[in-house]
Amino acid sequence: MTLFENTKIVISSLFTRPATLMYPAKPAKKTANTRGHVTINPAGCITCRTCQRKCPTQAINVDVKEKTWEIDNMRCVVCAVCVDTCPTTCLTMDNQYRPAMTARGGIEKVTVAGPKKKEPAAAPANGAKPAEKKE
Ligand code: SF4
Ligand code: SF4
Repeated sequence: MTLFENTKIVISSLFTRPATLMYPAKPAKKTANTRGHVTINPAGCITCRTCQRKCPTQAINVDVKEKTWEIDNMRCVVCAVCVDTCPTTCLTMDNQYRPAMTARGGIEKVTVAGPKKKEPAAAPANGAKPAEKKE
C-alpha cells in the first residue's frame, strides 16, 4: 500500500462513523439468518449422537443411557453443523445471542426422548396370522 493510499484511508476514516457497535450497551444487528445459539426440542431427539460426532469443537455430549443431551456454550462456535446434520431436525439455530458470560459455565443439559420404540405389528381383526411377504 502506497503512502498516498494510506493517507486517503486515514483522512476518510476521520469523517466516518466507526463500523463497530457498543455491544452489549447497544443491541447487535440481527437478521433471520443470524446464528445466535443452538436450541433443542427434547421430544425429537433420538440420541443418535450425530451432532456430537460432527461438532468441530466437541461442544455436545449425548448420553444414550441417561437420555441426556448437553451443550457447552463456552465451546460452541455457532457453526450450525449440528443443526444441519441432525436427522430428526430437533436442533435449531435461534437468532438471539446469549448474554455475555463472565465466569466458566454455560453448560445446558436436557433430558431427551431417546430412541423411538418399534410399534408391534397390528394383528388382523379376525385373529388370523399376518400374511407373509412374497419375494
Ligand atoms: S453450532 Fe457448531 S460448534 Fe456449536 S454445538 Fe453445533 S456443531 Fe458444535
Ligand atoms: S440432537 Fe439430533 S443429531 Fe443430536 S443426538 Fe439428538 S437426534 Fe441425534
